[in-house]
Amino acid sequence: MTLSNDARLGLDSLAVHAGRDDLMALGVHAAPIDLSSTYALPGVDAGGDAYERLATGGDVGDGSAVYQRLWNPTVARFERALAQLEGAEEAVAFASGMATTTAVLTAARQRRGAHVVAVRPLYGGTDHLLASGLLGTETTFVDRVDQVAAAVRPDTGLVMAETPGNPTLELIDLDALVAAAGDAPVLIDSTFATPVLQRPLDHGVALSLHSATKYIGGHGDVLGGVVACDADWAAAIRPVRAITGAIAHPLSAYLMHRGLQTLPLRVRAQQATAQLVAEAAGAMPGVRAVRYPGLPGCDPLGLVGPGRQMAGPGSVLALEVGSYALAAAVAEGVRLFTHAVSLGSVDSLIQHPASLTHRPVAPEAKPHAGVLRLSIGLEDADDLIADLRQALEAATGS
Ligand SMILES: *Cc1c(COP(=O)(O)O)cnc(C)c1O
Repeated sequence: MTLSNDARLGLDSLAVHAGRDDLMALGVHAAPIDLSSTYALPGVDAGGDAYERLATGGDVGDGSAVYQRLWNPTVARFERALAQLEGAEEAVAFASGMATTTAVLTAARQRRGAHVVAVRPLYGGTDHLLASGLLGTETTFVDRVDQVAAAVRPDTGLVMAETPGNPTLELIDLDALVAAAGDAPVLIDSTFATPVLQRPLDHGVALSLHSATKYIGGHGDVLGGVVACDADWAAAIRPVRAITGAIAHPLSAYLMHRGLQTLPLRVRAQQATAQLVAEAAGAMPGVRAVRYPGLPGCDPLGLVGPGRQMAGPGSVLALEVGSYALAAAVAEGVRLFTHAVSLGSVDSLIQHPASLTHRPVAPEAKPHAGVLRLSIGLEDADDLIADLRQALEAATGS
């Protein structure tokens, strides 16, 4: 099957076939998982050349893969597939979303400068990494896109943002952000949107990052991350990955690649259910507000809809109940939802961001203690709605 090189293919066809061009020649139908930690070398000179090429960000070409930390064919197949879905020249896959962010920040610091402008809200782990300065970066945090231009400096290596934002689903206008960043490259954490709903590079964004642990893996059984970008960025990021040892494991890459095949189907089905849950939740006892881009008022810039920046609202929503006590009682009172961090799995999850995912975030940027984040899975909408209602009724005594 070589159809995946055909740019006219639709998203669903690409998702099924991308990155699988070499399987026919190999005589297999499913992608093989190459677990080799090291690779036999054809000769000392050829081995040395291959090592040099891979350790400095080059491609394997016809040479040896040398060592799994440098290159792996199972990982490379996933990367090719993800790059096609993002409309990117290349993609680089990692052992986790945070390993991806770490490598991009390190590469940006080397290429452009150590200053970062970050638009809050961000995933708690990302906020923590930036605020800690652990990687030698210095971060200016802003709360709105119209504050970005004034925060950018000559040594700004990266402007970072998330849309939809974690945990309260704020949306950022990518065209406005790219304009505000000027010459500084923009990184978008597109984890909540997936390449099915949003393609940041089409808006001039330099780097589109995913925690593949979430929707791309999709079944809660793989940790991974990936960034889609142009060939220059990929060549800068790959050596960081090789030196720091952050490459995705081949089994993880296999699962992420397989996840892409059902990604459009899962995203659309989970989104349709999320819309129903979001609409129903607004009328449940104890719920003060529902944050979901598919609800009136939650997309003030009109960014969501067919042909717009985000093709649909996705399947993460936030509920504002009055207090910590109520939020805790609901998280502990659900039966069909699982009380757990993470999102994007086939099963529905609920968690309390202020205590968990956003625990390390500075007080001024921490989500309210009465906020719950829900990730909607593939269960029946009626069952999820009934579960949420019984948990809220029990928690409010109504
Ligand atoms: C989970 C998550 C991350 C971190 O990814 P890991 O795979 O857990 O390292 C980054 N950004 C967002 C939006 C996430 O949800």
